[in-house]
Amino acid sequence: MKAILYARVSSKEQEKEGYSIPAQLRLLKDYAHKNDLKVVKEFIDVETAKQAGRANFGEMIGFLQRNPAIRIILVEKTDRLYRNFRDYVTIDELDLEIHLVKEGEVLSKDSKSHQKFIHGIKVLMAKNYIDNLAEETRKGMLEKAQQGMYPSTAPRGYINNPQSKTIEVDRERAPLVRRMFELYATGNCSLKQLTDSMNQEGLRTRGGSKLGKSAIDSMLKNPIYYGWFKWRGKLYKGTHGPIIAKELFDAVQRAFQNHNKPRYTKRKLPFAGFLTCGICGCAITGEKQKGKYVYYRCTDYKGKCGNTYVRQEEIEEKFGEIVKKIHIEEDVLQLVKDALMESHKDEKAYHDQQIERLNREYSILQNRIDKIYVDKLDGKISEEFYQKCLDQWRGEQDQILERIKAHQNANVNYFEKGLNIFELANKVYSLYLQQTAEEKRQLLNFILLNCTLIKGTLYPTYRKPFDILAKGLTRSNWRPQPDLNRCRRRERAVS
Ligand SMILES: [Zn+2]
Repeated sequence: MKAILYARVSSKEQEKEGYSIPAQLRLLKDYAHKNDLKVVKEFIDVETAKQAGRANFGEMIGFLQRNPAIRIILVEKTDRLYRNFRDYVTIDELDLEIHLVKEGEVLSKDSKSHQKFIHGIKVLMAKNYIDNLAEETRKGMLEKAQQGMYPSTAPRGYINNPQSKTIEVDRERAPLVRRMFELYATGNCSLKQLTDSMNQEGLRTRGGSKLGKSAIDSMLKNPIYYGWFKWRGKLYKGTHGPIIAKELFDAVQRAFQNHNKPRYTKRKLPFAGFLTCGICGCAITGEKQKGKYVYYRCTDYKGKCGNTYVRQEEIEEKFGEIVKKIHIEEDVLQLVKDALMESHKDEKAYHDQQIERLNREYSILQNRIDKIYVDKLDGKISEEFYQKCLDQWRGEQDQILERIKAHQNANVNYFEKGLNIFELANKVYSLYLQQTAEEKRQLLNFILLNCTLIKGTLYPTYRKPFDILAKGLTRSNWRPQPDLNRCRRRERAVS
Protein backbone atom coordinates (compact mmCIF):
# COMPACT_ATOMS: atom_id res chain seq x y z
CA MET A 1 0.00 0.00 0.00
CA LYS A 2 1.26 3.43 -0.94
CA ALA A 3 1.17 6.33 1.47
CA ILE A 4 2.48 9.83 1.90
CA LEU A 5 3.65 11.51 5.06
CA TYR A 6 3.22 14.99 6.37
CA ALA A 7 5.33 16.60 9.08
CA ARG A 8 5.07 20.11 10.41
CA VAL A 9 6.75 22.09 13.11
CA SER A 10 5.60 25.50 14.31
CA SER A 11 7.95 28.30 15.28
CA LYS A 12 6.95 27.94 18.93
CA GLU A 13 7.62 24.24 19.01
CA GLN A 14 11.02 24.46 17.40
CA GLU A 15 12.58 25.37 20.71
CA LYS A 16 10.90 22.52 22.55
CA GLU A 17 12.32 19.06 22.58
CA GLY A 18 10.79 16.08 20.85
CA TYR A 19 8.92 18.13 18.27
CA SER A 20 11.64 18.32 15.68
CA ILE A 21 11.09 17.28 12.09
CA PRO A 22 13.65 14.44 12.30
CA ALA A 23 11.81 13.05 15.32
CA GLN A 24 8.49 13.16 13.47
CA LEU A 25 9.98 11.57 10.37
CA ARG A 26 11.53 8.78 12.37
CA LEU A 27 8.24 8.00 14.05
CA LEU A 28 6.27 8.00 10.80
CA LYS A 29 8.80 5.94 8.86
CA ASP A 30 9.01 3.34 11.61
CA TYR A 31 5.25 3.08 11.55
CA ALA A 32 5.18 2.75 7.76
CA HIS A 33 7.76 -0.02 7.91
CA LYS A 34 5.88 -1.95 10.58
CA ASN A 35 2.58 -1.67 8.74
CA ASP A 36 3.87 -2.53 5.28
CA LEU A 37 3.22 0.92 3.87
CA LYS A 38 5.38 2.39 1.14
CA VAL A 39 5.99 6.11 1.59
CA VAL A 40 6.03 7.55 -1.92
CA LYS A 41 6.36 11.20 -1.00
CA GLU A 42 7.18 13.34 2.02
CA PHE A 43 5.74 16.79 2.68
CA ILE A 44 7.40 18.89 5.35
CA ASP A 45 6.48 22.35 6.58
CA VAL A 46 8.71 24.37 8.87
CA GLU A 47 7.36 27.60 10.21
CA THR A 48 9.48 30.57 11.00
CA ALA A 49 8.48 33.68 12.90
CA LYS A 50 8.03 35.44 9.57
CA GLN A 51 6.43 32.78 7.41
CA ALA A 52 3.43 30.64 8.12
CA GLY A 53 5.24 27.80 6.33
CA ARG A 54 2.33 26.05 4.72
CA ALA A 55 3.61 25.89 1.17
CA ASN A 56 4.02 22.13 1.27
CA PHE A 57 0.60 21.56 2.72
CA GLY A 58 -0.81 23.13 -0.43
CA GLU A 59 1.53 21.02 -2.55
CA MET A 60 0.34 17.91 -0.76
CA ILE A 61 -3.32 18.74 -1.41
CA GLY A 62 -2.48 19.18 -5.09
CA PHE A 63 -0.57 15.90 -5.14
CA LEU A 64 -3.49 14.02 -3.54
CA GLN A 65 -5.88 15.52 -6.05
CA ARG A 66 -3.73 14.41 -8.95
CA ASN A 67 -3.12 10.92 -7.55
CA PRO A 68 -6.45 9.43 -6.57
CA ALA A 69 -4.85 6.03 -6.00
CA ILE A 70 -2.91 7.34 -3.01
CA ARG A 71 -5.31 7.81 -0.14
CA ILE A 72 -3.22 7.06 2.93
CA ILE A 73 -1.57 9.86 4.83
CA LEU A 74 0.64 9.47 7.86
CA VAL A 75 0.87 12.25 10.44
CA GLU A 76 2.10 12.39 14.00
CA LYS A 77 -1.18 13.64 15.43
CA THR A 78 -4.26 15.63 14.48
CA ASP A 79 -2.84 19.08 15.07
CA ARG A 80 -0.01 18.45 12.58
CA LEU A 81 -2.55 18.23 9.80
CA TYR A 82 -5.27 20.64 10.82
CA ARG A 83 -3.69 23.93 11.55
CA ASN A 84 -6.68 25.94 10.68
CA PHE A 85 -10.40 25.55 10.89
CA ARG A 86 -10.83 25.54 7.15
CA ASP A 87 -8.48 22.59 6.72
CA TYR A 88 -11.18 20.26 8.02
CA VAL A 89 -13.20 20.91 4.91
CA THR A 90 -10.24 20.75 2.53
CA ILE A 91 -9.03 17.42 3.91
CA ASP A 92 -12.50 15.97 4.19
CA GLU A 93 -13.20 16.50 0.52
CA LEU A 94 -10.20 14.32 -0.36
CA ASP A 95 -11.69 11.31 1.39
CA LEU A 96 -8.45 10.05 2.92
CA GLU A 97 -7.39 7.44 5.35
CA ILE A 98 -5.51 9.40 7.99
CA HIS A 99 -3.15 7.52 10.28
CA LEU A 100 -2.57 9.44 13.49
CA VAL A 101 0.56 7.58 14.42
CA LYS A 102 1.18 8.90 17.91
CA GLU A 103 -2.47 8.60 18.89
CA GLY A 104 -2.64 5.12 17.35
CA GLU A 105 -5.83 5.92 15.44
CA VAL A 106 -6.92 5.60 11.85
CA LEU A 107 -9.52 8.01 10.56
CA SER A 108 -11.25 6.71 7.50
CA LYS A 109 -14.70 6.19 6.11
CA ASP A 110 -14.91 2.78 7.75
CA SER A 111 -13.37 3.52 11.09
CA LYS A 112 -15.63 3.79 14.00
CA SER A 113 -14.49 5.47 17.10
CA HIS A 114 -14.92 8.26 19.51
CA GLN A 115 -12.14 10.14 17.73
CA LYS A 116 -13.80 9.80 14.38
CA PHE A 117 -17.08 10.99 15.76
CA ILE A 118 -15.55 14.13 17.24
CA HIS A 119 -13.75 14.61 13.99
CA GLY A 120 -17.00 14.28 12.06
CA ILE A 121 -18.60 16.99 14.14
CA LYS A 122 -15.65 19.28 13.55
CA VAL A 123 -15.88 18.78 9.80
CA LEU A 124 -19.61 19.45 9.86
CA MET A 125 -19.20 22.61 11.89
CA ALA A 126 -16.37 23.91 9.73
CA LYS A 127 -18.58 23.35 6.70
CA ASN A 128 -21.42 25.16 8.41
CA TYR A 129 -19.24 28.15 9.08
CA ILE A 130 -18.03 28.33 5.53
CA ASP A 131 -21.59 27.96 4.24
CA ASN A 132 -22.66 30.76 6.59
CA LEU A 133 -19.93 32.93 5.22
CA ALA A 134 -21.15 32.41 1.67
CA GLU A 135 -24.69 33.05 2.84
CA GLU A 136 -23.67 36.35 4.44
CA THR A 137 -21.95 37.46 1.25
CA ARG A 138 -25.16 36.69 -0.62
CA LYS A 139 -27.12 38.67 1.95
CA GLY A 140 -24.90 41.69 1.35
CA MET A 141 -25.68 41.43 -2.34
CA LEU A 142 -29.36 41.02 -1.60
CA GLU A 143 -29.35 44.22 0.45
CA LYS A 144 -27.80 46.01 -2.48
CA ALA A 145 -30.45 44.56 -4.78
CA GLN A 146 -33.23 45.76 -2.49
CA GLN A 147 -31.85 49.27 -2.75
CA GLY A 148 -32.16 48.97 -6.50
CA MET A 149 -28.45 48.61 -7.21
CA TYR A 150 -27.51 45.75 -9.49
CA PRO A 151 -25.16 43.73 -7.27
CA SER A 152 -23.04 42.03 -9.87
CA THR A 153 -20.99 42.58 -13.03
CA ALA A 154 -22.89 44.81 -15.43
CA PRO A 155 -24.58 42.96 -18.29
CA ARG A 156 -23.82 43.91 -21.89
CA GLY A 157 -25.03 47.43 -22.60
CA TYR A 158 -24.10 48.61 -19.12
CA ILE A 159 -20.84 49.31 -17.30
CA ASN A 160 -19.98 49.15 -13.61
CA ASN A 161 -19.18 52.42 -11.95
CA PRO A 162 -16.78 51.60 -9.13
CA GLN A 163 -17.35 54.96 -7.43
CA SER A 164 -21.10 54.88 -7.13
CA LYS A 165 -21.12 51.05 -7.09
CA THR A 166 -23.99 51.05 -9.54
CA ILE A 167 -24.27 50.30 -13.22
CA GLU A 168 -24.49 52.92 -15.94
CA VAL A 169 -25.58 52.84 -19.56
CA ASP A 170 -22.70 52.00 -21.87
CA ARG A 171 -23.12 54.76 -24.47
CA GLU A 172 -21.27 52.76 -27.10
CA ARG A 173 -23.24 49.52 -26.92
CA ALA A 174 -26.64 50.69 -25.71
CA PRO A 175 -27.85 51.70 -29.22
CA LEU A 176 -26.97 48.20 -30.47
CA VAL A 177 -28.89 46.60 -27.62
CA ARG A 178 -31.92 48.75 -28.42
CA ARG A 179 -31.67 47.77 -32.07
CA MET A 180 -31.51 44.10 -31.14
CA PHE A 181 -34.82 44.39 -29.25
CA GLU A 182 -36.43 46.33 -32.09
CA LEU A 183 -35.42 43.75 -34.67
CA TYR A 184 -36.73 40.81 -32.71
CA ALA A 185 -39.97 42.58 -31.76
CA THR A 186 -40.91 42.70 -35.46
CA GLY A 187 -41.35 38.94 -35.29
CA ASN A 188 -39.76 38.64 -38.70
CA CYS A 189 -36.41 37.22 -37.75
CA SER A 190 -35.30 34.08 -36.01
CA LEU A 191 -32.90 34.06 -33.09
CA LYS A 192 -30.21 32.69 -35.40
CA GLN A 193 -30.64 35.52 -37.91
CA LEU A 194 -30.67 38.10 -35.13
CA THR A 195 -27.48 36.66 -33.62
CA ASP A 196 -25.68 36.83 -36.96
CA SER A 197 -26.72 40.37 -37.68
CA MET A 198 -25.90 41.64 -34.18
CA ASN A 199 -22.45 40.11 -34.40
CA GLN A 200 -21.99 41.84 -37.73
CA GLU A 201 -23.03 45.17 -36.30
CA GLY A 202 -20.43 44.79 -33.57
CA LEU A 203 -22.29 43.66 -30.47
CA ARG A 204 -19.55 41.48 -29.05
CA THR A 205 -18.31 40.06 -25.76
CA ARG A 206 -15.98 42.14 -23.60
CA GLY A 207 -13.09 40.24 -25.10
CA GLY A 208 -14.32 41.03 -28.63
CA SER A 209 -15.42 37.55 -29.66
CA LYS A 210 -18.76 36.67 -31.23
CA LEU A 211 -21.91 36.24 -29.19
CA GLY A 212 -23.79 32.96 -29.34
CA LYS A 213 -27.49 32.39 -29.77
CA SER A 214 -28.01 31.65 -26.09
CA ALA A 215 -26.33 34.91 -25.05
CA ILE A 216 -28.67 36.88 -27.30
CA ASP A 217 -31.62 34.84 -26.05
CA SER A 218 -30.92 35.64 -22.42
CA MET A 219 -30.33 39.32 -23.19
CA LEU A 220 -33.74 39.50 -24.84
CA LYS A 221 -35.34 38.08 -21.70
CA ASN A 222 -33.43 40.27 -19.26
CA PRO A 223 -35.63 42.95 -17.64
CA ILE A 224 -32.55 44.99 -16.79
CA TYR A 225 -32.85 46.78 -20.12
CA TYR A 226 -36.15 48.41 -19.19
CA GLY A 227 -34.93 49.46 -15.74
CA TRP A 228 -35.69 46.46 -13.54
CA PHE A 229 -33.56 43.44 -12.74
CA LYS A 230 -33.87 39.92 -11.49
CA TRP A 231 -31.82 38.81 -8.51
CA ARG A 232 -32.16 35.34 -6.97
CA GLY A 233 -35.53 34.82 -8.55
CA LYS A 234 -37.01 38.18 -7.55
CA LEU A 235 -37.64 41.26 -9.62
CA TYR A 236 -36.33 44.61 -8.32
CA LYS A 237 -36.78 48.12 -9.62
CA GLY A 238 -33.32 49.37 -10.46
CA THR A 239 -31.84 52.80 -9.94
CA HIS A 240 -30.06 52.53 -13.31
CA GLY A 241 -31.29 54.18 -16.50
CA PRO A 242 -33.30 52.00 -18.92
CA ILE A 243 -32.11 51.30 -22.46
CA ILE A 244 -35.52 50.32 -23.83
CA ALA A 245 -39.15 50.95 -22.91
CA LYS A 246 -41.18 48.30 -21.13
CA GLU A 247 -43.53 48.15 -24.15
CA LEU A 248 -40.69 47.10 -26.43
CA PHE A 249 -39.61 44.43 -23.96
CA ASP A 250 -43.17 43.07 -23.81
CA ALA A 251 -43.35 42.99 -27.60
CA VAL A 252 -40.18 40.88 -27.65
CA GLN A 253 -41.65 38.45 -25.12
CA ARG A 254 -44.74 38.11 -27.34
CA ALA A 255 -42.49 37.39 -30.31
CA PHE A 256 -40.86 34.62 -28.29
CA GLN A 257 -44.24 33.08 -27.56
CA ASN A 258 -45.10 33.06 -31.23
CA HIS A 259 -41.80 31.50 -32.17
CA ASN A 260 -42.03 28.78 -29.58
CA LYS A 261 -45.43 27.25 -29.56
CA PRO A 262 -46.42 26.48 -25.96
CA ARG A 263 -44.75 23.31 -24.91
CA TYR A 264 -45.43 20.95 -22.05
CA THR A 265 -43.94 22.58 -18.97
CA LYS A 266 -42.55 20.29 -16.33
CA ARG A 267 -43.58 20.98 -12.78
CA LYS A 268 -40.73 20.44 -10.40
CA LEU A 269 -41.37 17.36 -8.33
CA PRO A 270 -39.84 17.19 -4.86
CA PHE A 271 -37.57 14.16 -5.26
CA ALA A 272 -36.67 14.61 -8.92
CA GLY A 273 -32.92 15.11 -9.23
CA PHE A 274 -32.39 14.15 -5.59
CA LEU A 275 -32.05 10.45 -6.33
CA THR A 276 -29.66 8.65 -8.65
CA CYS A 277 -30.28 5.41 -10.49
CA GLY A 278 -28.21 2.70 -8.83
CA ILE A 279 -28.03 0.67 -12.03
CA CYS A 280 -26.83 3.16 -14.64
CA GLY A 281 -25.97 6.29 -12.62
CA CYS A 282 -28.44 8.59 -14.39
CA ALA A 283 -30.69 10.97 -12.49
CA ILE A 284 -34.11 9.87 -11.30
CA THR A 285 -36.95 11.99 -12.55
CA GLY A 286 -40.59 12.22 -11.54
CA GLU A 287 -43.79 12.43 -13.54
CA LYS A 288 -47.45 12.70 -12.87
CA GLN A 289 -49.47 9.84 -14.28
CA LYS A 290 -53.18 9.78 -14.87
CA GLY A 291 -53.14 13.26 -13.30
CA LYS A 292 -52.98 11.71 -9.89
CA TYR A 293 -50.03 9.63 -8.82
CA VAL A 294 -46.45 10.82 -9.02
CA TYR A 295 -44.01 8.18 -10.19
CA TYR A 296 -40.22 8.30 -10.12
CA ARG A 297 -38.11 6.56 -12.71
CA CYS A 298 -34.64 6.55 -14.26
CA THR A 299 -34.16 9.15 -16.99
CA ASP A 300 -32.50 6.39 -19.06
CA TYR A 301 -30.12 8.84 -20.71
CA LYS A 302 -27.68 6.00 -21.32
CA GLY A 303 -30.37 3.71 -22.70
CA LYS A 304 -32.91 1.54 -20.90
CA CYS A 305 -31.33 0.21 -17.74
CA GLY A 306 -34.19 -1.87 -16.39
CA ASN A 307 -34.80 0.04 -13.17
CA THR A 308 -38.43 0.06 -12.01
CA TYR A 309 -40.95 2.83 -11.33
CA VAL A 310 -41.66 3.87 -7.73
CA ARG A 311 -44.56 5.90 -6.42
CA GLN A 312 -43.87 9.08 -4.44
CA GLU A 313 -45.74 7.85 -1.36
CA GLU A 314 -43.54 4.79 -1.32
CA ILE A 315 -40.38 6.88 -1.60
CA GLU A 316 -41.48 9.16 1.23
CA GLU A 317 -42.12 6.17 3.44
CA LYS A 318 -38.74 4.65 2.70
CA PHE A 319 -36.98 7.91 3.38
CA GLY A 320 -38.84 7.94 6.68
CA GLU A 321 -37.10 4.67 7.58
CA ILE A 322 -33.76 6.26 6.75
CA VAL A 323 -34.48 9.27 8.94
CA LYS A 324 -35.74 7.06 11.76
CA LYS A 325 -32.29 5.53 12.13
CA ILE A 326 -30.76 8.79 13.28
CA HIS A 327 -30.69 8.66 17.02
CA ILE A 328 -28.52 9.81 19.90
CA GLU A 329 -28.65 8.34 23.35
CA GLU A 330 -29.12 10.98 26.05
CA ASP A 331 -25.73 10.37 27.67
CA VAL A 332 -23.99 10.65 24.33
CA LEU A 333 -25.40 14.10 23.79
CA GLN A 334 -22.93 15.30 26.43
CA LEU A 335 -20.10 14.00 24.30
CA VAL A 336 -21.53 15.89 21.36
CA LYS A 337 -21.58 19.06 23.42
CA ASP A 338 -17.93 18.56 24.35
CA ALA A 339 -17.01 18.07 20.72
CA LEU A 340 -18.90 21.22 19.77
CA MET A 341 -17.05 23.14 22.46
CA GLU A 342 -13.77 21.97 21.03
CA SER A 343 -14.83 22.86 17.52
CA HIS A 344 -16.01 26.23 18.76
CA LYS A 345 -12.53 26.99 20.06
CA ASP A 346 -11.03 26.16 16.66
CA GLU A 347 -13.61 28.29 14.96
CA LYS A 348 -12.96 31.25 17.23
CA ALA A 349 -9.24 31.08 16.58
CA TYR A 350 -9.88 30.96 12.83
CA HIS A 351 -12.35 33.82 13.02
CA ASP A 352 -10.00 36.06 15.02
CA GLN A 353 -7.12 35.28 12.71
CA GLN A 354 -9.16 36.14 9.61
CA ILE A 355 -10.47 39.39 11.09
CA GLU A 356 -6.95 40.37 12.09
CA ARG A 357 -5.66 39.68 8.59
CA LEU A 358 -8.45 41.68 6.99
CA ASN A 359 -7.87 44.60 9.36
CA ARG A 360 -4.19 44.51 8.49
CA GLU A 361 -4.97 44.60 4.76
CA TYR A 362 -7.32 47.51 5.38
CA SER A 363 -4.71 49.59 7.15
CA ILE A 364 -2.08 48.88 4.48
CA LEU A 365 -4.49 50.36 1.93
CA GLN A 366 -5.18 53.29 4.25
CA ASN A 367 -1.45 54.02 4.50
CA ARG A 368 -1.20 54.02 0.73
CA ILE A 369 -4.13 56.40 0.44
CA ASP A 370 -2.61 58.77 3.00
CA LYS A 371 0.73 58.70 1.24
CA ILE A 372 -0.59 59.32 -2.24
CA TYR A 373 -2.58 62.26 -0.93
CA VAL A 374 0.65 63.87 0.25
CA ASP A 375 2.20 63.13 -3.15
CA LYS A 376 -0.69 64.91 -4.79
CA LEU A 377 -0.33 67.94 -2.52
CA ASP A 378 3.37 68.03 -3.30
CA GLY A 379 2.55 68.00 -7.00
CA LYS A 380 4.47 64.75 -7.52
CA ILE A 381 1.57 63.06 -9.28
CA SER A 382 -1.30 64.21 -11.49
CA GLU A 383 -4.83 64.72 -10.24
CA GLU A 384 -6.01 62.05 -12.66
CA PHE A 385 -3.54 59.45 -11.42
CA TYR A 386 -4.44 60.30 -7.84
CA GLN A 387 -8.14 59.81 -8.51
CA LYS A 388 -7.54 56.49 -10.26
CA CYS A 389 -5.50 55.06 -7.39
CA LEU A 390 -7.91 56.42 -4.81
CA ASP A 391 -10.90 54.78 -6.51
CA GLN A 392 -9.18 51.46 -6.73
CA TRP A 393 -7.95 51.39 -3.15
CA ARG A 394 -11.21 52.67 -1.71
CA GLY A 395 -12.95 49.93 -3.67
CA GLU A 396 -10.62 47.31 -2.20
CA GLN A 397 -11.19 48.74 1.27
CA ASP A 398 -14.94 48.47 0.84
CA GLN A 399 -14.58 44.85 -0.19
CA ILE A 400 -12.52 44.15 2.92
CA LEU A 401 -15.16 45.79 5.13
CA GLU A 402 -17.81 43.63 3.52
CA ARG A 403 -15.78 40.52 4.20
CA ILE A 404 -15.28 41.51 7.82
CA LYS A 405 -19.02 41.98 8.15
CA ALA A 406 -19.64 38.57 6.61
CA HIS A 407 -17.24 36.95 9.07
CA GLN A 408 -18.89 38.68 11.99
CA ASN A 409 -22.33 37.52 10.96
CA ALA A 410 -21.19 33.98 10.23
CA ASN A 411 -19.85 33.81 13.75
CA VAL A 412 -23.13 34.67 15.45
CA ASN A 413 -24.93 31.76 17.06
CA TYR A 414 -22.41 29.32 15.74
CA PHE A 415 -22.37 27.24 18.86
CA GLU A 416 -26.13 27.35 19.42
CA LYS A 417 -26.78 26.36 15.85
CA GLY A 418 -24.53 23.34 16.17
CA LEU A 419 -26.21 22.25 19.34
CA ASN A 420 -29.62 22.58 17.74
CA ILE A 421 -28.63 20.18 15.00
CA PHE A 422 -27.90 17.49 17.52
CA GLU A 423 -30.83 18.16 19.76
CA LEU A 424 -32.90 18.02 16.64
CA ALA A 425 -31.51 14.60 15.79
CA ASN A 426 -33.82 12.85 18.22
CA LYS A 427 -36.86 14.72 17.00
CA VAL A 428 -36.02 14.41 13.37
CA TYR A 429 -38.30 11.48 12.59
CA SER A 430 -41.43 12.91 14.21
CA LEU A 431 -40.62 16.18 12.46
CA TYR A 432 -40.26 14.37 9.16
CA LEU A 433 -43.68 12.81 9.47
CA GLN A 434 -45.34 16.21 9.79
CA GLN A 435 -43.70 17.80 6.79
CA THR A 436 -44.78 18.32 3.20
CA ALA A 437 -42.89 16.44 0.51
CA GLU A 438 -40.88 19.55 -0.39
CA GLU A 439 -39.88 20.16 3.26
CA LYS A 440 -39.00 16.50 3.58
CA ARG A 441 -36.63 16.79 0.68
CA GLN A 442 -34.93 19.79 2.30
CA LEU A 443 -34.50 17.91 5.55
CA LEU A 444 -33.11 14.91 3.69
CA ASN A 445 -30.70 17.13 1.86
CA PHE A 446 -29.30 18.18 5.21
CA ILE A 447 -28.82 14.61 6.37
CA LEU A 448 -27.90 12.76 3.18
CA LEU A 449 -25.02 13.27 0.81
CA ASN A 450 -26.77 11.24 -1.85
CA CYS A 451 -29.12 8.35 -2.31
CA THR A 452 -29.45 5.75 -5.03
CA LEU A 453 -32.50 3.80 -6.07
CA ILE A 454 -32.41 0.22 -7.32
CA LYS A 455 -35.69 -1.50 -8.06
CA GLY A 456 -37.62 0.07 -5.22
CA THR A 457 -34.80 -0.03 -2.67
CA LEU A 458 -33.09 3.12 -1.40
CA TYR A 459 -29.36 3.12 -0.64
CA PRO A 460 -28.49 6.24 1.36
CA THR A 461 -25.11 7.85 2.04
CA TYR A 462 -25.39 9.94 5.16
CA ARG A 463 -23.56 13.20 5.64
CA LYS A 464 -21.13 13.48 8.52
CA PRO A 465 -21.71 12.94 11.35
CA PHE A 466 -25.18 11.59 10.65
CA ASP A 467 -23.50 8.48 9.26
CA ILE A 468 -22.51 7.61 12.79
CA LEU A 469 -25.77 8.77 14.32
CA ALA A 470 -27.65 6.57 11.88
CA LYS A 471 -26.04 3.56 13.47
CA GLY A 472 -27.61 4.58 16.74
CA LEU A 473 -24.81 6.16 18.73
CA THR A 474 -24.52 4.57 22.16
CA ARG A 475 -21.64 4.36 24.57
CA SER A 476 -20.90 0.80 23.58
CA ASN A 477 -20.22 1.46 19.93
CA TRP A 478 -17.76 4.35 20.03
CA ARG A 479 -14.83 2.07 20.19
CA PRO A 480 -13.43 0.40 17.10
CA GLN A 481 -14.93 -3.00 16.51
CA PRO A 482 -12.71 -5.69 15.11
CA ASP A 483 -15.60 -7.55 13.53
CA LEU A 484 -15.77 -5.84 10.16
CA ASN A 485 -18.61 -7.93 8.82
CA ARG A 486 -20.78 -6.80 11.63
CA CYS A 487 -20.06 -3.18 10.76
CA ARG A 488 -20.94 -3.77 7.14
CA ARG A 489 -24.19 -5.42 8.03
CA ARG A 490 -25.11 -2.39 10.07
CA GLU A 491 -24.92 -0.28 6.94
CA ARG A 492 -27.60 -2.32 5.31
CA ALA A 493 -29.99 -0.60 2.98
CA VAL A 494 -33.62 0.07 3.67
CA SER A 495 -35.73 -2.14 1.51
ZN1 LIG B 1 -30.94 3.87 -14.80
